[in-house]
Amino acid sequence: MQPAITSKLPTAGITIFTEMSVLANEHKAINLGQGFPDFLMDDQLVALVNEAMQQGHNQYVHMNGLKVLRERIAEKISTLYTNNVRPDTEITITPGGTYAIYTALTAILQPGDEVIVFEPAYDCYIPTIEMNGAIPVLVPLVYPNYSIDWDLVKQKITTRTKLIMLNTPHNPTGALLSTNDIIALQNIVKNTGIFILCDEVYEHLIFDGKKHESMLRYPDLYERSFVCFSFGKVYHCTGWKMGYCVAPTALMKEFRKIHQFNCFSCNSPVQYALAEYLKQKDKYLQLGTFLQQKRDYLLQLMKQTKFKPLPSYGSYFQLYSYKSISHESEKDFAVRLTKEYGVATIPASAFYKNGQDNKVLRFCFAKKESTLEEAVNRLMKL
Ligand code: GLN
Repeated sequence: MQPAITSKLPTAGITIFTEMSVLANEHKAINLGQGFPDFLMDDQLVALVNEAMQQGHNQYVHMNGLKVLRERIAEKISTLYTNNVRPDTEITITPGGTYAIYTALTAILQPGDEVIVFEPAYDCYIPTIEMNGAIPVLVPLVYPNYSIDWDLVKQKITTRTKLIMLNTPHNPTGALLSTNDIIALQNIVKNTGIFILCDEVYEHLIFDGKKHESMLRYPDLYERSFVCFSFGKVYHCTGWKMGYCVAPTALMKEFRKIHQFNCFSCNSPVQYALAEYLKQKDKYLQLGTFLQQKRDYLLQLMKQTKFKPLPSYGSYFQLYSYKSISHESEKDFAVRLTKEYGVATIPASAFYKNGQDNKVLRFCFAKKESTLEEAVNRLMKL
């Protein structure tokens, strides 16, 4: 007889990104759902990986990540955020941002701990908290700007609050933390034992001249933070699954205890290539302008449809309201759009535990202009 499994995640299904991508493939729909670029990444970075492999860089590197890569990341952090993090003790290379988030939460959470999570929340946050026996304490972002109600946050803090989860630029809304948010956060965590996990994977994808309010900029916030990043988002290679976590030495020490028994060490040739490529600052500094053009191109095209945009200041994504088109639930409408109109998107309700439904869909604009044009041609029929 096969032994029975007691599920660690009894209510989890398949992620909405996988579900919508499978549906898009089945129906040959244009996939503006799952967040990945459909244009080619830079040949030069591909060539650097090739070179590293041919030079024989194909064995394990140090479990914390290739030293020279961590040094280049530290240089970048020092220039951008005036924080001199130590590459030997404060940076670890990870197989992607999601893994960095999982590892940080697993390193820090004990059963019964409470974690403040803002909704809509990226899909891995709540399951990872729950897998660790901790309790997500949900705080809704204020629709339609998805700003943070800090008074509400204060009310939700208890003696068991272990960590606050943040995400800027925010997925799925494209909202950013502002300087006022930082001040409110500083006041809340001051003289407490509360940790912060900040998902900053869209760090460079920021529009309209706005500033990235990284936890790395503020010593009083950084001293309690795990900050998670993604090379996939920065260099248009989401399938490489490469990222990193930055945290003060004592926090990183615990992070590495978990990491060494899970992934242990990441893909070597890719790390050699990234270390070399990171020397070219313009490659990441120009990203905001590049993606802003895409956001604006889709905005322009969408004027021909009945969809109404909500503001997006960063990330790959923009939410659009379909209130004037249909009363269907976000999920039903997203499925019907994929099947009948050939355009896949992501229902924002998938980012809420209670499935809150504001009649908005998330569109990924990190696509070729021709892809965006074809998608909008199809949406105009609605
Ligand atoms: N981060 C991507 C998104 O938001 C999806 C990654 C995944 O499929 N897990 O679309």
